[in-house]
Amino acid sequence: MNIGDFAHHLSRRVEGLTGAVTDPFRPTVIRLGVTGLARAGKTVFITSLVANLTDRGRMSQLRAVGEGRIEAAYLQPQPDDTLPRFDYEAHRAALLGDRPHWPESTRAISELRLSLRVRPTGLLSGFQGTRTVHLDIVDYPGEWLLDLALLDKSYAEWSRDTIERLAGRPVAADALEALKGEDATAKLDETRAQVLTRAFTGYLEAARAEGYSDLTPGRFLLPGDLAGSPVLTFAPLPPQDDAPRKSLWREFERRFEAYKARVVKPFFRDHFARIDRQVVLVDALGAIHKGPAAVEDLRRTMADILGAFRPGRNAFLSQILMGKRVEKILFAATKADHLHHTQHPSLAALMQALTREAADRARFAGAETQSMAIAALRATTEETREHHGQSLDCVRGTLLETGKSAAFYPGDLPQDPQKLLGPAQEGAEGWLDGDYGIMSFAPANLSLRPGDGPPHIRLDRAAQFLIGDKL
Ligand code: GDP
Repeated sequence: MNIGDFAHHLSRRVEGLTGAVTDPFRPTVIRLGVTGLARAGKTVFITSLVANLTDRGRMSQLRAVGEGRIEAAYLQPQPDDTLPRFDYEAHRAALLGDRPHWPESTRAISELRLSLRVRPTGLLSGFQGTRTVHLDIVDYPGEWLLDLALLDKSYAEWSRDTIERLAGRPVAADALEALKGEDATAKLDETRAQVLTRAFTGYLEAARAEGYSDLTPGRFLLPGDLAGSPVLTFAPLPPQDDAPRKSLWREFERRFEAYKARVVKPFFRDHFARIDRQVVLVDALGAIHKGPAAVEDLRRTMADILGAFRPGRNAFLSQILMGKRVEKILFAATKADHLHHTQHPSLAALMQALTREAADRARFAGAETQSMAIAALRATTEETREHHGQSLDCVRGTLLETGKSAAFYPGDLPQDPQKLLGPAQEGAEGWLDGDYGIMSFAPANLSLRPGDGPPHIRLDRAAQFLIGDKL
């Protein structure tokens, strides 16, 4: 154990001891992790959640709101001075301003503290004063969780696995060519190192555009302020038994180890290990529309992501967690406003099937889990239209490209969730093959009544599951 890990270990112990003495005047702190792969909907989710907790007119399913016990909600300086602040004001202005547009997506970790003043429940509620609950929302890319698996691998093993994976993907042809042709035993040449890194990163970007999601190292696609640094300047190379010192192979091996020690471990130790509740957002509709290969890839990636929540999965993680675990995990299929509500139960069932393996593991570990279909920001309204003598349940929204309002039927979802995952994937060619591909909506132009947050679908139920018991 190094000094950093030891200090962390010690502070956990002290937290454990002091936590045993309950102090009624001490505010409750909930650290809520919000994650998901790129474009899953993290930024929109956090922005709408905070806006709806501040103006609670549409949050009746959050019990404390339904019971009228939340007296105030206000933003406060966050507890971690070195983490970027989630840019709530800019994102809210994008979504709810005069010309609504989607905000900039998550690129790195950020944090926001929303404090709630809550009246207690029960008989004594009239006699007791209000309590303060700090909700510390931590936004981070799901891609970073995939890096946990790297901790168990040497550079040679990671290279071998990655090159094997590349070999099966047409989109990797150029990168593979560049990596295979390299003399890894030659002396390191920084220009070559950068050329190889660019080829490899180019592959990761192209693979993501095709819908693949198993794309490590996670920081290559979302580098934040590490862009261009040596820890992000390496690529897989065919294994070498006896690469000399100072060779390209040895230097890439050193950088890979530095990436694990200086990038991956600090994230898990300083941020991941402190999360109490977690929401994992998933663009399941996007994957279903792309077809069986994308769904299968998403299922596997979800299992990998959620492996991080399974104690014992990784020795380093067990050591830093010290028995602490995430208490609740919500798997939410986002952007459900693309579907009429009659299709929502199917989406929720599909989401459950998609994450079953992972959810089983988390349940085994003592975390409570739930699956839901939500829309953090509802951009559509519903209508039923006649089409060739049949009535179709459609949604109407403003198209991003033209600014015109139009009604669409996205297509059918697989009826039996098992079919989504079965080997044959029967009828897969028919999944969401209606208008879904052209349903690119802008956020609606809203005039909110005082006290109302932006419209959503089941965001209040999601909040009840995640934090309701603490209010
Ligand atoms: P992030 O990368 O996880 O932060 O994803 P964002 O929150 O930026 O969302 C990515 C995109 O998904 C947005 O730009 C929107 O186009 C779309 N989106 C996210 N949430 C919703 C939603 O609730 N409804 C609709 N219709 N689109 C959404």
